[in-house]
Amino acid sequence: MHTSILSGKTYFIRTFGCQMNMHDSERVSGLLDSCGALEVAGPEDADIVIFMTCCVREAADTRLYGQCSSCKSLPAPPSGRRVVAVGGCIAQRDGAGLLTNLDNVDVIFGTHSIAHVAELLEDAFTDGERHVRCEETDAQPATSMPWHRAESYRAWVPIMTGCNNFCSYCIVPYVRGREKSRDMDEIVDEVTGLARVGAREITLLGQNVNSYGRDLFGAPRFAELLRRLGDTGIERIFFTSSHPKDLLPETIDAMAEVPAVMPQLHLAVQSGSSRILKLMNRRYTREQYLDLIDRVRDRIPDIALSTDIIVGFPGETEEDFLETLSLAERVGYAQAFTFIYSRREGTPAARIADDTPREVILDRFNRLVKVIEGSAYAFNQHDLETVVPVLVEGTSKKDATKLLGKSPKNQTVHAPLPEGLRVDDLVGRIVDVKVDTARTWYLSGSVVGQPR
Ligand code: SAM
Ligand code: SF4
Repeated sequence: MHTSILSGKTYFIRTFGCQMNMHDSERVSGLLDSCGALEVAGPEDADIVIFMTCCVREAADTRLYGQCSSCKSLPAPPSGRRVVAVGGCIAQRDGAGLLTNLDNVDVIFGTHSIAHVAELLEDAFTDGERHVRCEETDAQPATSMPWHRAESYRAWVPIMTGCNNFCSYCIVPYVRGREKSRDMDEIVDEVTGLARVGAREITLLGQNVNSYGRDLFGAPRFAELLRRLGDTGIERIFFTSSHPKDLLPETIDAMAEVPAVMPQLHLAVQSGSSRILKLMNRRYTREQYLDLIDRVRDRIPDIALSTDIIVGFPGETEEDFLETLSLAERVGYAQAFTFIYSRREGTPAARIADDTPREVILDRFNRLVKVIEGSAYAFNQHDLETVVPVLVEGTSKKDATKLLGKSPKNQTVHAPLPEGLRVDDLVGRIVDVKVDTARTWYLSGSVVGQPR
């Protein structure tokens, strides 16, 4: 630990957006911890407030302005001076341009500049000036820096950063750069180390994990990575996101054959209409996607499938939308993240004219949500009266006497705390739950046998 002006200062990080951003926040925390700074639960007690931003949709963009200006009315922090920093995708996209509209922000750091966050904050405390750093590529990849894990029993493990796909609606390739895979031995060593110190579950992160290794070896090696991670002793492996065009048969085989790879697959479809998929530059058709789902189900029959769907892409007709509805019905997703298209300046789709009324898009969105709710409910019914191994995360938000955890299919499971046990003794352990109720978004039942 080097002596830093940040030593003893308190910090608070608010994170928007995807898991990659949440993991970046763990890296920022790791760096600040190594300078002796202390994390606190709210911005009011923090000398340093950091917003890790997302620009995938407009709503996240708008929220940042409100959050930054609300810092102005906070009471004075312990050190007497509060430094406000903005990191993540909006910082990368807008850079110094943010300083004009956000007059109380002292530090801006882009997605490739996380390694410099401590020195930027130190400079802001020392000279009272505003500091901006938004490189185009990583001098020091964030994935090689210390990180602060919120829980000891599970971890996010980034295996690659960036994206090469340029889906026509999406800003991510512009703010996260091109695909860059981490060294395979480094990932395996990291996961082996995590398993040794008691982690039981990992989620591998990347915008398109199926193409892991393409930039290193000339061809994807995700299947090999899964097989090697299956031998590390880690008990549960999840991964996200998978692009359908790159999901190879060898990866489906590895998923089916490696016991630690959980029977869950997030496979973003975005639309059920081949016409819209072409405009989205997704590089698969409705038929190819459905064929892929059949092949996955042939090998892993009870797999839980989840997806992302965008409603209201420019020019989407009722006919296109009906194809999305019928695809969702046919697949029977266990879960889906549904989004209303948000125009992102600088992307090719932003140039497509569209006169679809907002009410029509909202109506489609609501109809899609109903279909997803129906399929999620139907999916959960299969687990009624079965015994499900649940990795305990804590208690239910609504009822502290009920434990809450996740099944291998990533379902939320509730059960009353067994007599004589405290939730703190169970967090990070696996309990078997005999399921007696299956609702749309959760299962519940009672604990049988001993925690392990
Ligand atoms: N790389 C991941 C993939 O392709 O599965 C997705 C990453 S992106 C952060 C998460 C989701 O946001 C996308 O799958 C898409 O459904 C949605 N999304 C991206 N751009 C969007 C936009 N302009 N409007 C609405 N939703 C968008
Ligand atoms: Fe965006 Fe497409 Fe890359 Fe996903 S694959 S991050 S949706 S460009």
